[in-house]
Amino acid sequence: CKNTVLTGPIETTLCDYETIESVNDELFNNLSDLVDLYRECPFWAEHGSCNNPGCAITTVDESDIPEKWRAAALSKRHELPGCYYRDSDYCFLDDNTEGDYFDLQLVPERYTGYSGHDARRVWRSIYEENCFGLSELSLMKGKSPAPVTLPDTMIEALHDDGKDSPAQCLEKRVYYKMISGLHASISTHICHEYLNQSTGEWGSNLNCFIDRVASHPERLQYIYFNTILLLRAVHRVGPYLSAFDYCSTGKHEDDAETWDRLAKVLDIARDTGKFDETVLFRGENANMLKEEFKTHFRNVTRIMDCVGCDKCRLWGKIQTTGLATALKILFELDEKVLNPRMNPDLLHRSEVVALFNTLFRFSESLKAVDDFRNEWQELDKEE
Ligand code: FAD
Repeated sequence: CKNTVLTGPIETTLCDYETIESVNDELFNNLSDLVDLYRECPFWAEHGSCNNPGCAITTVDESDIPEKWRAAALSKRHELPGCYYRDSDYCFLDDNTEGDYFDLQLVPERYTGYSGHDARRVWRSIYEENCFGLSELSLMKGKSPAPVTLPDTMIEALHDDGKDSPAQCLEKRVYYKMISGLHASISTHICHEYLNQSTGEWGSNLNCFIDRVASHPERLQYIYFNTILLLRAVHRVGPYLSAFDYCSTGKHEDDAETWDRLAKVLDIARDTGKFDETVLFRGENANMLKEEFKTHFRNVTRIMDCVGCDKCRLWGKIQTTGLATALKILFELDEKVLNPRMNPDLLHRSEVVALFNTLFRFSESLKAVDDFRNEWQELDKEE
């Protein structure tokens, strides 16, 4: 657990742990208020059937949503020139006019009880998307060719061990870090707001965190990694985000607060979003690799439809959409389309909402990690 204190540069970024930690309180506070002002804004997700009543979410009535953000109005808006439309997306966006509205503030990401075979199967499918060719993996690991769906015992074989390997290209490692970092962030939230089933009380569960995250320091590293990647994406579309019509509540003072919070987040993103996307997708097969990467990531956003718990699926969809939006911003949009006046509809509203909420979730995870460190130190003192 001592490894939860990380120092020095963060691999594949130009940032270090200390810098991210020094700004996280401010980032968290500003995002918290920014996201707060989204309260009345819609987010629609495709909904499958939920068999577990404990996973259910309360929806918000459409009449409580500002008219211009209702599904019918939003579906008319998004038009982009030629190839920037759709082909550039790293996720499947639910573009239909039917759907539910959720107030994200009322749905914290925390323990829901969703686990066992169903949850593992979803995670396994997501990690399997990182397999750019099972025969290559089999050769690397010295195993016989794997079946199309791997058994649980082989999930670890798909996992990066945190070290560079000549057989693993940089892009593949980045993919793995994003997924593992997301998984670690979700686990951190679960352990930080855990339901003790014998007492019925909610509280943090240090052993859960040690078991799932801290005893695998690379998982913790990837939470930082995703934070930096998201900050870099936010910085890259800073002018666009500054010109975006947030329509927080319609009241002048709320709008002013939104701009103020946003400006602070953008300052932090400028100073700490030190991810160099230009080192990826270079060389001979760059375009092919990028297409493959995009397909795999799109599949991950699709896999979210298989999550059998509404609350988990909602946050899974938002966060995979948020990460996919960051990838789109970093790898698909060139400088000339970033001008907000030329392309006011560059991103869907749901992408902007997902981007901010995902960054907020990661910032919240880093705050939770800090709480766990303090808890650990207190226990250490007592002994
Ligand atoms: P799991 O977390 O299911 O992990 C399966 C295996 O993957 C582990 O045995 C380990 O080998 C490996 N692994 C674990 N973490 C990592 C990592 N960071 N990097 C690489 N490998 C790893 N549950 C809730 O209570 N609340 C939620 O909000 C919630 N949201 C979810 C969202 C999604 C998209 C999914 C798929 C699941 C969600 N779950 C949620 C379920 C939760 O993630 C776990 O699956 C569940 O708590 C059971 O955990 P576990 O200890 O069995 O291992």
